Amino acid sequence: MPGKGGILDIRSAESIEYPCPPRPGRQHTEKKGFIPMKLFPKKIPALLAALALLAAACCAVAEEAEDPLAPFVLHHGDRTVPKIAITVDDCYESATEWILKDAELCRRYDVAMTFFPVVYTGCLDEKYRDLWQEVLDSGCEIGTHSNRHLKLGNRSRIGLIGGLERAQEALDRTLGYHYEIRWFRPPYGSIDGGSKLTKQQVIDAVQTYGFDHVVHWDVSETIDLEKALKDIQNGSILLFHAKKKDTLFLEKLIPELLDRDFELVTMSELFGFDPPETGGELYIYSDEVFQ
Ligand SMILES: [Zn+2]
Repeated sequence: MPGKGGILDIRSAESIEYPCPPRPGRQHTEKKGFIPMKLFPKKIPALLAALALLAAACCAVAEEAEDPLAPFVLHHGDRTVPKIAITVDDCYESATEWILKDAELCRRYDVAMTFFPVVYTGCLDEKYRDLWQEVLDSGCEIGTHSNRHLKLGNRSRIGLIGGLERAQEALDRTLGYHYEIRWFRPPYGSIDGGSKLTKQQVIDAVQTYGFDHVVHWDVSETIDLEKALKDIQNGSILLFHAKKKDTLFLEKLIPELLDRDFELVTMSELFGFDPPETGGELYIYSDEVFQ
């Protein structure tokens, strides 16, 4: 089975041009020590040049902030669009009832979440086929949290890549068809170096497998509803786990976010992609593919 290169080629949304925001009009107030500009006509060209440079810098910053897919580690989506991605990690076998309740919440409120299961938890066993199909049928998305909950830097390169292969293989087997996983959340959200790989080697291994990004988050509040509502903003990626406490928190949070006119979407929707591709042969692990 070949690698997963080119997964970002199917981005459906056109890139949007954001003009440099208009500079707010400054109140011309006389302050102590203020010297009217007209007293220094020779400095006007220099000041205009400085202003032009400032405007260019402003546009450069705005452009830099425009592309939420620019960094390797994604912390959030577009800050100008009121879309939010709720993500749910780990998905232990013992928590399958809460995965199902999360899917029920999605149906009840017509919202979506993205799940990041770890294979070794057992939740991707074939006996949970109906559960994961219901997750997809409710409009949600499935990413991966690798096969084991190990810090990536403490794995060998082959172990890291093989873990991602194992995850794809397990999901395909569970669903009974190929579902091209688009998003990877590293265990602990970490791509730091460890006992076996440097940070750069971790990034190289993840990219060699075919993920151009890893998914982090910018909000992980699961206790204080007011704080969560204060922290969440356009483009936010919210971190939750498949467990009772988080599902009950989401039950309170989701209607509040909808009241604030946020759209709760999958990771793919947040970044302008169509849903992951499905069909074709089941992914089969091979330790020779990435040697
Ligand atoms: Zn985790």
